[in-house]
Amino acid sequence: MRLATITNWAYGTTVVLTLVSGATMILASNAQEQERAQVAQRYRLDRATERLSEELYVLTGQTRQYVITGDETHLSVYQREARALADINGRLSKVSDAGALPSELNALRDALKWAETLHDKQLAAIAASKAGQEDKARQIIFGAEYERELDRAEAFLDKFQYQVDQRIAANIDDATAIARAWRTISEILLGSTAFLFLCVLYFVFKQRVLRPVVRLSDVISRLAAQDYEVETPAYDQIDEIGDMAQAIRIFRENGLQRQQLEEERDRDRAVRDTLSRMTQRMQGCDTPREIGGVAERFIPVIAPRFAGALYLLDQSRNVMTRLSSWSEPTHSLAEFPTISCWALRRGTFHRPSGTALDIPCNHVIQGDTSVDTICIPLTAQDETLGLLYFEAIDSLKVEQKARDVYLNMLAENIALALANLHLRDALRASALTDPLTGLGNRRSLDKVLEQVAANTLNAGHPLSCLMLDVDNFKRFNDSHGHDAGDAILRQVGASLRDFTRDGALAFRYGGEEFVLLLPDVDLSTAVERAEGIRAHIASVKISFSGREVGPVTVSIGVATSTDLKTWTDLIATADSALLRAKQAGRNRVVVANRRTGEAPAG
Ligand code: GH3
Ligand code: MG
Ligand code: MG
Repeated sequence: MRLATITNWAYGTTVVLTLVSGATMILASNAQEQERAQVAQRYRLDRATERLSEELYVLTGQTRQYVITGDETHLSVYQREARALADINGRLSKVSDAGALPSELNALRDALKWAETLHDKQLAAIAASKAGQEDKARQIIFGAEYERELDRAEAFLDKFQYQVDQRIAANIDDATAIARAWRTISEILLGSTAFLFLCVLYFVFKQRVLRPVVRLSDVISRLAAQDYEVETPAYDQIDEIGDMAQAIRIFRENGLQRQQLEEERDRDRAVRDTLSRMTQRMQGCDTPREIGGVAERFIPVIAPRFAGALYLLDQSRNVMTRLSSWSEPTHSLAEFPTISCWALRRGTFHRPSGTALDIPCNHVIQGDTSVDTICIPLTAQDETLGLLYFEAIDSLKVEQKARDVYLNMLAENIALALANLHLRDALRASALTDPLTGLGNRRSLDKVLEQVAANTLNAGHPLSCLMLDVDNFKRFNDSHGHDAGDAILRQVGASLRDFTRDGALAFRYGGEEFVLLLPDVDLSTAVERAEGIRAHIASVKISFSGREVGPVTVSIGVATSTDLKTWTDLIATADSALLRAKQAGRNRVVVANRRTGEAPAG
């Protein structure tokens, strides 16, 4: 039942109880009035009876005084009193008017009759006294008969008074009982009204004030502790409590919004921090595999609702190969031609799901239900480097635009890291490569030699070195031009590269000098190879701008190291053997002999 209904009923009941209580008070007051009227009646009847009794004795006394003394004063007093007495009926009607009942009046009537008889006797005694018959007068007024009649009159008066007293006492008792009963009822009703009123007051206070205030204060405490999960009570009444509830509701909604914004901002900041950390780590990676490892570790945290994979472009075959994956993607192939991905075809973010109709990629194996996949090409400076692939875990539809932003940022950062890696590789390669011949340069030789020497000699194998120098090269330059000289150097480089099978390594040492490292090759085999190279170069016909330049010959110094102590002199030893070859007439192979010096070969 609604609070308003309860309070209305309670108010109605209180009003009815108050009215009934008022009515009973009026009834109680009426009963008291009745009681007072009975008391007043008894008083009047008592007065009338007393008057009669008094008269009886006054008249008797004055008659007796006159009879004894003969004093006329007594006679005149008697006569005045007797005149004052009215007749029987007049007296009776007076007493009746005073409230006596007819049954009670019978006793009074008898008493008055006897008083009349006595009056006659008094007159007889006065007459006898006046006539000088003193004895007779005394006989009448003091006689036993007069006394008896006086007693009888007195007895009837007493009877009348007794009856009146009895009746009035009973009436007073009744009136008192009724008054008391009404008063009690009135008091009970008044008490009940007061109690009900207090109950209603308490109920209303508790329901409308106390309980809401306690509830609201609890809500305020929790809101102060930033617990915005608390439900705000809906007090719609138009009063201060309603206003307070409304204000708290608005405060909570604002707080909730602020909290959500803060949480979103914190989440966003955490994701961006992770992204930035991932980018930093990727910048430090030296190989694509390392980049794949970083992606595997960071991306599940940045985009936890997606499984995914990082693909790298294999340019030679024009296919995408999976470099790493996270959260076990199951739909995309490990390797696929670039043509089977729509993101790679279009060069942009591709998400064939949601409400918009789109084409799924061919590298995604569709099951019974369509998979929510995202492909983002990894590009830098208009060059495709790879692909970032995502699929929603448990076919969960992730429609958040914010997430797309993160995925795009991820793709940009990974592409940047891959591009940096490419650039670094290219720089490193160019720093170690001779641009004219494509062979490793002298710096490259320094780096490689140490490594190769350690590996080969540690394994107990020999390491041989051929030092080549183009014979009379200056002359070619001078007679055919510098570009023709370059063409010769390119050709020599190409010839040497042809001889780099079986693990041999070719370098341009500087100018028109070249070095060939032959790991695991002993001196005699090295000499054979050197001879082969020399003969091959000598046989190659080189033409430039339609003109044949050549023949080109080279001189070669050969040195072999078999222990870790001597490899550092290997180049210098081969060089000195080369010098000997030059001195010996060029276009020849000379072997350096560590103990005996160099000896010509062939
Ligand atoms: P030798 O048989 O004693 O080695 O005589 P050479 O003329 O080959 O030796 P020299 O050291 O006197 O000359 C080497 C020349 O190689 C000098 C330089 O102009 C030329 N040269 C060095 N580097 C290049 C290059 O990259 N391109 C061209 N075209 N010439 C170069
Ligand atoms: Mg030279
Ligand atoms: Mg030379």
